[in-house]
Amino acid sequence: MNETVLLNDKEISKEIILSAREAIVAMGKELIERKLVAGSWGNISVKIADGVYAVTPSGRGYANQKPEDIVIVDDACKTLDGELTPSSESKLHTAIYSACSEAKAIIHTHSIYASALAAMRKPVPAIIEDIVQIIGGRVECAEYALPGTQKLADNAVKAMNGRKGVLLANHGAVCWGKDLADALMVCEILEKAAQIAIICQSCGGAVELSNEDAEIMHSFYKEHYIKRQRGEEK
Ligand SMILES: [Zn+2]
Repeated sequence: MNETVLLNDKEISKEIILSAREAIVAMGKELIERKLVAGSWGNISVKIADGVYAVTPSGRGYANQKPEDIVIVDDACKTLDGELTPSSESKLHTAIYSACSEAKAIIHTHSIYASALAAMRKPVPAIIEDIVQIIGGRVECAEYALPGTQKLADNAVKAMNGRKGVLLANHGAVCWGKDLADALMVCEILEKAAQIAIICQSCGGAVELSNEDAEIMHSFYKEHYIKRQRGEEK
């Protein structure tokens, strides 16, 4: 029998909540393994329904995390279910979900090369095709704000401008996807693009792709490539 629970006036299957929590726990271990975060830094969330989100707890390492440690919050980051304190960056997550209706999962990383560009307050330039295909152009760096503040969330949403990733000045990166696997892929491609940008800057600079070419590649990716990856198109 499919048991449900009432969260933020929505009847939600307990199974769906548990699978979101389990997916976040598994992704935390994946982020450590892929060196996208260290210790308890960074955070992960999944949109369960409008106004119902599963998010990693504040200050807890990923290695021993359990599904029940994952907190369920509403749009105002108020806890709906869970014992621990939700991530201090929950506002960043809920602000992105509000601004981007396609976003179903968000990963905030402190990966080295993205953080290096963020420390320089420079964007990830549109110099490599895969990041352009996925994001649609350069990845901007948001204006600086203290961690955990509404200002940080507002600045990130503004600089993101509907794209799937943004850098947080002197801090790290945040990316969203249609699910956690998609968000992870965006984080990894963003980190790779940031690394290439830094290599190129130390060797005389790269040539940035034109907006026109970026738009063509991004449209092809959205209209065809994703379907081919899913086996929906030959
Ligand atoms: Zn952070």
